[in-house]
Amino acid sequence: MLIIDNGHGASTPGKCSPDGRLKEWLYTRRLARAIAAKLEGMNIPCMLLVPGDWDEPLLSRCNRVNGIVRRYGDAVLLSLHTNAAGNGREWCKASGWSVFVAPGAGEGSRRMARALYDEACARSVLGNRATPQGGYWEASYAILRKTVCPAVLTENMFHDNAADVGFLLSAGGFEIIVSLHVSGIARFIAQTQ
Ligand SMILES: [Zn+2]
Repeated sequence: MLIIDNGHGASTPGKCSPDGRLKEWLYTRRLARAIAAKLEGMNIPCMLLVPGDWDEPLLSRCNRVNGIVRRYGDAVLLSLHTNAAGNGREWCKASGWSVFVAPGAGEGSRRMARALYDEACARSVLGNRATPQGGYWEASYAILRKTVCPAVLTENMFHDNAADVGFLLSAGGFEIIVSLHVSGIARFIAQTQ
């Protein structure tokens, strides 16, 4: 079971491109649905953690994940975001895709992050920042730290970088971001079975 968290909801302030064309909550919902549809077509069961449009408090999302893990045992979590370098009112320079695990994360989280990184690398979406050596970043995000299953968080390019926003909103760019998740998750799940 892959649990997909769309991150923020429609009532999260900010979290959109300076020109207003890309809203993080809306874009990650589109991504979540497309990724789930493709994986289900490959017989990998998926669940959207927050199917509605509104914000679900972070702690309640963590509790929801842990409840699903208790029920299904072998669940893993993917949290989807778009990144920002500034306050969302100005265009910035940082660009590219990245994946995070919690400090002290287990082997499962690290292998899942690495599988996603390899697919991102193959699609040349890493942008202009220096990725840490293992291919993934560590950050103490609650959704990673307070959940009891393998968990990764992807920052899908920067919504305050003009070129990244153009890429994300193009049909080709959207497909690339979807396919890197589908291939990475499918490969990770195949390795664990
Ligand atoms: Zn976010």
